Amino acid sequence: MTRGWRLTADADLRSRNTFGIAATAPWLVEVDDCGALAEVLSLPQVRAAGPLLLGGGSNLLFAANPKAAVLSFATRRVELLGDDGATVLLHVDAGVPWHGLVMQTLDMGLAGLENLALIPGTVGAAPIQNIGAYGTEVGEFVDAVEAWDCELGAPVRLDRAACAFAYRDSLFKRVPDRYLVTAVRFALPRRRQPKLDYAGIPEELSAMGVAAATCRDVAEAVIRIRQRKLPDPAVIGNAGSFFKNPIVAEELAAQVLDQHPSLPLFRGDGPGTRKLSAAWMIEQCGWKGFREGDAGVAASHALVLVNHGDASGAQLLDLARRIAGAVRQRFGVDLQPEPRIIGAQW
Ligand SMILES: Cc1cc2nc3c(=O)[nH]c(=O)nc-3n(C[C@H](O)[C@H](O)[C@H](O)COP(=O)(O)OP(=O)(O)OC[C@H]3O[C@@H](n4cnc5c(N)ncnc54)[C@H](O)[C@@H]3O)c2cc1C
Repeated sequence: MTRGWRLTADADLRSRNTFGIAATAPWLVEVDDCGALAEVLSLPQVRAAGPLLLGGGSNLLFAANPKAAVLSFATRRVELLGDDGATVLLHVDAGVPWHGLVMQTLDMGLAGLENLALIPGTVGAAPIQNIGAYGTEVGEFVDAVEAWDCELGAPVRLDRAACAFAYRDSLFKRVPDRYLVTAVRFALPRRRQPKLDYAGIPEELSAMGVAAATCRDVAEAVIRIRQRKLPDPAVIGNAGSFFKNPIVAEELAAQVLDQHPSLPLFRGDGPGTRKLSAAWMIEQCGWKGFREGDAGVAASHALVLVNHGDASGAQLLDLARRIAGAVRQRFGVDLQPEPRIIGAQW
């Protein structure tokens, strides 16, 4: 009989993080049944410290071995909860691979997630940094998040407002490890006007010979752009964009723009703010394509740090800090990392 979880000692995490960093966890618990969570969390190996939740490992950097037990959800249920003709409510377990869900919802005739195609990782991690791409953020389509609240010691359901989604941010990111996301409830429209107002998408659709784009066409365009622009972690270790685009006060944005008129600027996250292009600033400082040993910056994308083979997490972190230092010195702007850094402070 299965207990709903499996425990491994001294677990090798190299193939469980997309940077391909060599790291070992004292314990790895793979959970197939969230009903067993209370029991799992009371295991002495887990209670001692932690746990650290690990999804696909595509948004973290092991700067050191985790001291805590690592918990991973292997749950895979996708269930229809409701359908009022206009909107469909779906329950999706945390362990479901993100891109597979995007394609499954398109197969079901549902819209909303198409601009988020090909983002690596799991459904459980998607709300943590409110994943976003090509003008869409997942929070727009989250009805509620189901989680184990480690402070209450009980399961909770948080509605969209309680999740406090913002640019690459949410409640969950602000209190790391308090909420173990067990499932996400999505509210997906049957129809929506495809979102095409993002640089690159109209051009790609036109190259595909598509005049009136469907949501599936948009997903296909996004997949083609991403495959061309982003290094594939199966070929070279990386965690996608390493830095967030900094959101700064309008006055600071104006000062930087005054000195660097070609700096790309975007809408901020609220009134009086603007978002600056981190990639542009990093490229201006000469880091694009940089390599030192096995740690480097992708030649195709200045925001992506890469592991050419045997870089350690500490080497990549050191490189990231030097890049941020150069940007601060030249532009007076602080860069913040997007991935979570395990075993060190930014
Ligand atoms: C090539 C590439 C491209 C990418 N492109 C994008 C992009 O366009 N947009 C974008 O937003 N991101 C992007 N990312 C980053 C990453 O894919 C996403 O952030 C993704 O949601 C991370 O999922 P994961 O399962 O790998 O999470 P992990 O890396 O395993 O974990 C990330 C964080 O979430 C926590 N976590 C994971 N699962 C849970 C859970 N069930 N409950 C609570 N906490 C949890 C972890 O503890 C950690 O803090 C990219 C990454 C790569 C490698």
